[in-house]
Amino acid sequence: MSDNYEDLLKKASGMLAKSNTSDSRLKIPEPDVIFEGKSTIIRNFLDITDLINREPQVIAKYLMKEFGIGVTINGRRLIINRKLSASQISKKFSQYMDSYVKCYECGSPDTVIQRVGRIDLLTCKACGAQHPIKLTRDSKSNEADLEEGKQYNITINEVGKSGEGRTSYKGYSIIVAGGKKGENLRVVIKKIRNGTAIAEIVSKS
Ligand SMILES: [Zn+2]
Repeated sequence: MSDNYEDLLKKASGMLAKSNTSDSRLKIPEPDVIFEGKSTIIRNFLDITDLINREPQVIAKYLMKEFGIGVTINGRRLIINRKLSASQISKKFSQYMDSYVKCYECGSPDTVIQRVGRIDLLTCKACGAQHPIKLTRDSKSNEADLEEGKQYNITINEVGKSGEGRTSYKGYSIIVAGGKKGENLRVVIKKIRNGTAIAEIVSKS
């Protein structure tokens, strides 16, 4: 195959892309959010993951980690065990796109993730660029990891042997005296040691 032929193909596919969409950048649909009790339901979750072209389970796990709460895929919907606004959710989808989907060179969402040794590489099918996955840049800069003295909204996942409420949040294990399973709490972090944080309840929602 000559270089010329490849150039032609590139041109042709570029023109096709242009005629199909006015903007070659992928637009994620607004999450269609409803509340049921204390849960948030994204009714078009699978529509979004289809478009992003990543496994729903992978994105569900990402959201679970980022929000620090339990999520369940239910048909085409995602159930989140806390009330979250559509804008909170769509912000996380954009962060996911920036880290795991969009090519760092050309911005195309037509990419695949390949694991090479211990490194995940984001490979672009549009321009061929290949880069190791960068961790969520936005979440790192906008929301610092857990800090002592600061307040956070958490949901208690389980109750420990001594009756203490426990949950995981941004990779930390949080222990809250008096926290009951399933409770949504605003807590203040008292002490952090070796990935475990001791928190006190500020208010219940
Ligand atoms: Zn690219």
